[in-house]
Amino acid sequence: MPTVTFFGATGGVTGSCFLVETAHQRILLDCGLIQGSSREEARNGEPFPFDPASIDGVVLSHAHLDHSGRLPQLVRDGFKGWIHVHKAGRDIVEILLEDAAWLSGKEAKQTSRNNRNRGEDEVEPLFTREDVAICMDRMAPLEYQKLYEILPNVHLKLHDAGHILGSAVVELRTLENGAEKRLVFTGDLGQKGSPLMRDWEPLESADLVLMESTYGDRLHRSRRETEQEIKEILQKAANGRGNVLMPAFAVGRTQELLYLLGKHYKDWGLEGWQIFLDTPLGIRATEIHARHDRYLRPAAADWVRETRFRFPNLRITETAEQSMAINRIQSGAIVIAGSGMCTGGRIRHHFKHQLGRSGTQVIIAGFQAEGTPGRQLVDGAPSITIWGESLRVGAQVHTVGGISAHADQDGLCDWFRGFRLAPAVALVHGEDSARKGLADVLKERFSVDAAVPALGDRLEY
Ligand SMILES: [Zn+2]
Ligand SMILES: [Zn+2]
Repeated sequence: MPTVTFFGATGGVTGSCFLVETAHQRILLDCGLIQGSSREEARNGEPFPFDPASIDGVVLSHAHLDHSGRLPQLVRDGFKGWIHVHKAGRDIVEILLEDAAWLSGKEAKQTSRNNRNRGEDEVEPLFTREDVAICMDRMAPLEYQKLYEILPNVHLKLHDAGHILGSAVVELRTLENGAEKRLVFTGDLGQKGSPLMRDWEPLESADLVLMESTYGDRLHRSRRETEQEIKEILQKAANGRGNVLMPAFAVGRTQELLYLLGKHYKDWGLEGWQIFLDTPLGIRATEIHARHDRYLRPAAADWVRETRFRFPNLRITETAEQSMAINRIQSGAIVIAGSGMCTGGRIRHHFKHQLGRSGTQVIIAGFQAEGTPGRQLVDGAPSITIWGESLRVGAQVHTVGGISAHADQDGLCDWFRGFRLAPAVALVHGEDSARKGLADVLKERFSVDAAVPALGDRLEY
């Protein structure tokens, strides 16, 4: 019987990595970075808990770094097979890995400089741009809803997960001694009714489901309310003669915000504003979304084909000079900038100049992990720390919860209802309280006893 071993994303949401083994093959699902405190992140530099050379194939659910970020190391450390990924996901993962390599190089340089001053050893980056290029050569781009034989007696089908561009629910069929087994891994599951992404595609049968549970104990606010809320914040900013800052993840959230602004252009009275897309990574990600418009929701795809995500007063600011010039504008600017949790990127410069002003409106639309400046803002901190400097928060901070890229508790149950016979379930990719919340409702609504595996656990199916 095949087994799956849980090498990450068990009691938390990062470091997604699961090893499926049959009598003849070893297949890795995801190979993600651990993200969190610096002590936890140090584990990314450690050797893998398996020999990369012994892995026959990798399946990547989607591009986010907590699912893909250790792939360059896997290849460098001896993995010789193919990495199977949706073709749009492949293009997204390339820019995210390149960006991560650049960041890792910058951090390593900084740490090395500090270490040298203390007479300590220099450090190496986790991986380099060259490692990424070699890793990209191992990627095999696939389509949704086609059955591929990726290894002898191992078939793979990707189903649209509706989470980000090119995201997939992975269906892995293995044949051993005449018995076929189906493992389904949700990756990250989107929230139905996203303006930009298509709804996830339902599945009907599985022997075991590895199910994400990020929001397993919560319900999202409705999208309609959220859009109304954004409209009101823009109104407020116009009345208060201030700017609007939107920290946004480069992939997904940035494009969704652009689409919302474009779609509601008249209704939200955007003619008088100057709108800035001030994120180099977000600009590249937006181009990739435009190139793969056929994977977007049809209404959005039509708009994207027509506009390529542009509208009359949108300025694309590539250079640092262009970005700095924004801070001379006192009012009437809407700025979309990275990073999503305010841990890096150009949003920090805008905070430095504008967070203290009472007229500034900050719109936070994404998940904010503990310990990040974004989380401090959401929690109402009177000041936040950026570049070691304390910045007073004079701005009004708005958390709009309705445009999450993850299904909530009802959304997860809705997806699970698609199975004709309830499969066995193991809950992953959620903090323990979220996993418990989802386990409780799966029991209540489907009489399913979901497993809650710990790091290193192995499950037969
Ligand atoms: Zn994700
Ligand atoms: Zn994830």
